Amino acid sequence: MDGREHRWFILGASLIPLIAVFGAMVLLWNRIFGWTDLLVLFIMYAISGFGISAGYHRMLTHRSFETYKPVRVALATAGVMAGQGPPLIWAAHHRKHHRVADKEGDPHSPHLDFEPGLKGALAGLWHAHLGWLFDDKLTSDPMRYCPDLVREKPLRLLSQHLVLVTAAGVVLPGLIAYAVTGGDLRALLTGMLWGGLVRIFLINHMTYAVNSVGHYFGRRRFETTDESRNVAWLSLPSFGEAWHNNHHAFPRSARHGMKWYEVDLSAVLIWSLEKTGLAWKVVRIDHERMELREAGISRVTGSARERQELLESQQRIAPLAERGNRQDTSLVDVE
Ligand SMILES: [Zn+2]
Ligand SMILES: [Zn+2]
Repeated sequence: MDGREHRWFILGASLIPLIAVFGAMVLLWNRIFGWTDLLVLFIMYAISGFGISAGYHRMLTHRSFETYKPVRVALATAGVMAGQGPPLIWAAHHRKHHRVADKEGDPHSPHLDFEPGLKGALAGLWHAHLGWLFDDKLTSDPMRYCPDLVREKPLRLLSQHLVLVTAAGVVLPGLIAYAVTGGDLRALLTGMLWGGLVRIFLINHMTYAVNSVGHYFGRRRFETTDESRNVAWLSLPSFGEAWHNNHHAFPRSARHGMKWYEVDLSAVLIWSLEKTGLAWKVVRIDHERMELREAGISRVTGSARERQELLESQQRIAPLAERGNRQDTSLVDVE
């Protein structure tokens, strides 16, 4: 798939679901909405959401865990059904993003080359959200950024049959609704609408919000060289992806939610796969390393004596924290 075809695909996968959302609103207004619509919306949102977060992102792009080939292909297929393009291009863009996040060459930074003020901020957010996918100068060659993935035949096949697999993700919820209602044709059609198109709209904007909102609004726990942020309200619907500052600090970690209260559904999925023997080599960051990294940006507050103590403790941990940074950089550069 070349750049032009990719742009056309993204345009279709953005516009058709948007139109479908308007259609669904009209049906909802006329009270044409059944329990199966909600059911398939939920099921397909979960399938494609895990496909993007645990599949495309953590498994393929960052190699956060290993699994058996059928599970790998199933997760990648679920990711294709989200309508965000082929896994090879997605992973290439994302690896490039990590290498130069919020700097020259980042495919979707909201901070580059935008004029100051509200207009520039909105332009930056739009670019980071969806606009970047229509930039005809955008290139992230999979052969350069993810040759390891290009070598995998199932991933190449998924890329070749992208439209078919994405369309199957629209038909599938209709078939599920048709089956559970014992052959209701209306449930089939509205199932395709809600579980297929409306769901693509929702899951895509959730993912895109991690790139836009997640580099603009929210809290920074770790001092990273980019503008990544943790966005708590986005964590549940994004399957944990919105702990984006944590993720930029430790790109290979299978867990993005790093405190017990940071909801991360993909981490739960990976943990479940590991417990059932379906995943191994799950990348974990030990507690001490995390704390060192976090302490590296502690704000200097309190009395003069407390500040002095903090400064001294930071000087003691600095070499260790630096070592942690270096390790992460090498781990994300998977060429
Ligand atoms: Zn990012
Ligand atoms: Zn990432």
